[in-house]
Amino acid sequence: LIEIRDIHKAYRRGSQTVPVLSGLSLDVAAGEYLALMGPSGSGKSTLLNLIAGIDQIDSGSLRVGGIELGELPERRLADWRAANVGFIFQFYNLMPVLSAYENVELPLMLSDLTGRERRERVLAALDRVGLSDRQEHTPSELSGGQQQRVAIARALITEPTLIVADEPTGDLDRDSATEVLKLLQDLNEQTGTTIVMVTHDQRAAAHAHSIMRLEKGQLTSTAEQR
Ligand code: ATP
Ligand code: MG
Repeated sequence: LIEIRDIHKAYRRGSQTVPVLSGLSLDVAAGEYLALMGPSGSGKSTLLNLIAGIDQIDSGSLRVGGIELGELPERRLADWRAANVGFIFQFYNLMPVLSAYENVELPLMLSDLTGRERRERVLAALDRVGLSDRQEHTPSELSGGQQQRVAIARALITEPTLIVADEPTGDLDRDSATEVLKLLQDLNEQTGTTIVMVTHDQRAAAHAHSIMRLEKGQLTSTAEQR
């Protein structure tokens, strides 16, 4: 699904250039669940943002589902993202004034589904993450683990081919983290959704099929598990 060849990425700050990824290559098969580890500042979030089409590479090739993301104009890249990628962040990134139901519905607002189809999908997604009884709660009325489960429902509502998760358990206690990891694993196993997850947590990484380590802009080691 993901084919990355010799990509380079640097950030420019004024007259300075900070190289982050230098000559990185990586393949992720459809249906794979990959954990990305490595020290702080090694470029994990940068790589995730490139894969998800939030940011663009400087050089090399990055294809997802056969599409060279760097060749898409901004507008088409945004459409591609909305149709193909689900996002999960460390701090949930839910809309504070919207209910759980409305947050999950948000990615469908531009779809051509009927109101009824939309409602069915939202209810099914909330049920999948075990929050059918929290539909009307706003994020501040939910625990961290519940907020992350809303975020997972929001990420899966469009039935994306790829879910990217940046430290999804980084702000959660152990039990909530376990629930979130179980949901991601079930989603991967039951729907074949490809998942790329950045994590510092060895326990979280153990849920993935394989683990890769990023250091100084390069992938330094990979381990297959399961
Ligand atoms: P962490 O584990 O702390 O989240 P990370 O591996 O996700 O770290 P990145 O966020 O990808 O690391 O950052 C990699 C490097 O790029 C860091 O040195 C960071 O300071 C720099 N960087 C990230 N984003 C920007 C930006 N928008 N502008 C300039 N430099 C940036
Ligand atoms: Mg990061």
